[in-house]
Amino acid sequence: MAQLILMPDKERSALKRHPWLFAGSVGRLVGRARAGDTVEVLADDGRPLGRAAYSPQSQIRARFWTFDAAETVDDAFFKRRIATAVARRAALPELTGQEGLRLVHAESDGLPGVIADRYGDTVVVQLTSAGADKWRSAIVAGLVKATGCDRVYERSDSDVRGLEGLAPTTGWIHGTAPSVPLSIGENAVRLGVDIAGGHKTGFYLDQRENRRLLAELAGEKEVLNCFCYTGGFSLQALAGGAANVLSIDSSGPALAQARANLALNPHLPGVRAEWLEADVFQALRDFRKEGRQFDLIVLDPPKFAPSAAHADRASRAYKDINLLGCRLLRPGGLLMTYSCSGGIGLELFQKIVAGAALDAGRDARIVRRLAGSADHPVALNFPEGEYLKGLLVQVD
Ligand code: SAH
Repeated sequence: MAQLILMPDKERSALKRHPWLFAGSVGRLVGRARAGDTVEVLADDGRPLGRAAYSPQSQIRARFWTFDAAETVDDAFFKRRIATAVARRAALPELTGQEGLRLVHAESDGLPGVIADRYGDTVVVQLTSAGADKWRSAIVAGLVKATGCDRVYERSDSDVRGLEGLAPTTGWIHGTAPSVPLSIGENAVRLGVDIAGGHKTGFYLDQRENRRLLAELAGEKEVLNCFCYTGGFSLQALAGGAANVLSIDSSGPALAQARANLALNPHLPGVRAEWLEADVFQALRDFRKEGRQFDLIVLDPPKFAPSAAHADRASRAYKDINLLGCRLLRPGGLLMTYSCSGGIGLELFQKIVAGAALDAGRDARIVRRLAGSADHPVALNFPEGEYLKGLLVQVD
């Protein structure tokens, strides 16, 4: 096995069990290693730090598989790590029995570059790093073994693969396509999931708990759901007894799936749902001119800031929609507002929302802080894993 020797005094983050080694902290490679190969990581003084996947093309030059320098990285390693990740979910009552469930949340489950989501009896896997890509068959075997599922679909088409020198790869990697369209039950609502063409692995499982909260809050309210995608929040609002729900997205296919999802739920009052294909920024401005008002507004936009470098522009976009959101709320209304940008921390997001309320001339208070569901845990040694943050704000 090749050895990756760090620069002097660059072992601190590894000693704190942070899984990434940036190019700037790497001194030299002793021996030969190709992308995805496992290397032994040593401090400059020769102290062993663990074993990592080498990624010569990426600024993240290596990702630790293990901080135990004696642990072998082989098929059995992936089987163990995946079984542990699945067991973590099984131990949390709120997750047991969920048909849609994130089984492996990458770094936070000790498996950098590995995402695995379960939709019924189908697992969708996304491999985003050279190391994860290299171990694809062990990972698939581990998922099949840990879940008993006999279908695994690969959705390795995320942009970040390019940074690792990997081409996009999609398709059935184990088993064959199910004969009926995939759907999951979530909080008493049924939702179709397009694993081949949908966003991420097909669905935003990270918002499951927040959608449940919306159902609790929506009774009798006029709800506006911005960036509705396939209608997850919209259907929960209907299930919670909303007076009506107006949902906006700029994607025609997402709205078509949202309508199809509503049709899957004949118990919901579909007449109270309205779908609008539009740009949210424009639609909110138009509503303002028309003097329209709502009791509860959900803002769950796409990632405006993929990294801290985009934080300035993204901050303006978050400010804009939150400002418009505050203006469209009746006195006492609720704003459920999110950012899934890794580049925008919770503190900054709160400042942005505060600035938006101030500019809207509205006093407002945080009544709840919101985060991703429990199947998207954040490892304490990997704070970067905390991408989704939200605030429930009551506006005077
Ligand atoms: N809340 C959803 C997930 C939202 S994902 C859920 O719980 O499932 C973000 C969505 O924003 C995508 O569906 C995308 O099509 C949409 N979108 C992106 N930019 C937009 C814009 N400017 N106006 C309207 N929709 C937009």
